[in-house]
Amino acid sequence: MIKVGFVIRPRSAYLHIPFCHRRCFYCDFAVVPLGDKAGRREGPGSNTINSYLKLLHREIDLAPKGSPLSTVYIGGGTPSLLSPEQIGSLLQHLRSHFGFQPDPELTLEVDPASFNEKALIGFLKVGINRLSLGGQSFDDETLEKLGRRHKSHDLLRACELIESQFSAGNIRTWSLDLLQNLPGQEINEWENQLNKAIESSAPHLSIYDLSIEPGTVFQWRLNRGEISLPSEEISIEINNLTNSILKKSGFARYEISNYALPGHTSRHNRVYWSGAGWWAFGQGATSSPWGERLARPRTRASYETWLKSQERDGLHPSMIKEKAIPMSLDDKLIVGLRRREGISFNKLSEIVSWDKINKQDNMNLLKIKLEKWIENDYINFYGDRLFLNDPKGMEVSNKILIDVLLWWESLETDSVCQPTP
Ligand code: SF4
Repeated sequence: MIKVGFVIRPRSAYLHIPFCHRRCFYCDFAVVPLGDKAGRREGPGSNTINSYLKLLHREIDLAPKGSPLSTVYIGGGTPSLLSPEQIGSLLQHLRSHFGFQPDPELTLEVDPASFNEKALIGFLKVGINRLSLGGQSFDDETLEKLGRRHKSHDLLRACELIESQFSAGNIRTWSLDLLQNLPGQEINEWENQLNKAIESSAPHLSIYDLSIEPGTVFQWRLNRGEISLPSEEISIEINNLTNSILKKSGFARYEISNYALPGHTSRHNRVYWSGAGWWAFGQGATSSPWGERLARPRTRASYETWLKSQERDGLHPSMIKEKAIPMSLDDKLIVGLRRREGISFNKLSEIVSWDKINKQDNMNLLKIKLEKWIENDYINFYGDRLFLNDPKGMEVSNKILIDVLLWWESLETDSVCQPTP
């Protein structure tokens, strides 16, 4: 794998809050299901949360001080199970440790059944200015099949609460997540879901394809033949419908799964796809401050043991600029292709020090490799950029990516690899 010295200073931080009421049937995230104890301000659930937050604060203390943060994303799990005071204390800690740039984007993931108006106002008072609502579906039967705890009326109420704060200018923006390509999903039903999402007035929509992960209830049901995913034909129809309905409503697709009205793209999301670094803290969280990824242990006990070893023996090299291994160009190509802007050959040439002739030769080789995709209008070259056509190319992005990576591997390593300065 080719490594190059390409680093953009980290100005973003992700905090993982692993607690949920229960595990949804499709979820393989690093979560701690607390059952009915979740959300209570006293008792065993709150003790579990408090002791985890102490670990999280300890981990933030360990990080080298760096540039002030421009974005913070508190995700999970269900971070809205925390109180506004707990969220405020985490933000305050990040602010005092790293500093915040003027007008930072501070996002909190919220679950429809886990907060009320008072808590919402509390979150905004401690600095949260963007909310990401995990709706997944407006249909009760679907929510039940997904193993979600909330009902459609919870989601509608949550949308109304958030929208009223947005209209009043108390948050800068908000996002709604939906899941598509679910077992048994039909076109008409999905159209109905999209229309409800648009009616919710969310200025940003994340539409994820359901993926069946190992060890989940969904995988078990799939193996037993109890559920099946939509055929490729239906899946393409569902994707096309999503794209056309959202575009007609003014949304631009700025990444494979993300759509936004003008001015409402997520600054934090763009960090992941731009090659910039980010800090991350918490059980199961993945950081990449200087290009090299580091995934923390996924269980509470192993995370605590890991944290103690960091405190005792020193930080993992990936967290220290001088020691980290730079990002692989494979990763850079993958993230570049996911974005609407695509891959810039000028930037790529700078990173790997191609001269003009090298750049043109390698571009020509790529055009030959991608001939069938270009001819059939899946991808486009415009100026120095290669990008996926939307929606055709985006739907088959993984197949195109394989060809791009094969092209990359076929290049003479000597002509593309420059040592880190
Ligand atoms: S609420 Fe989200 S993080 Fe928690 S179990 Fe369900 S899908 Fe996973």
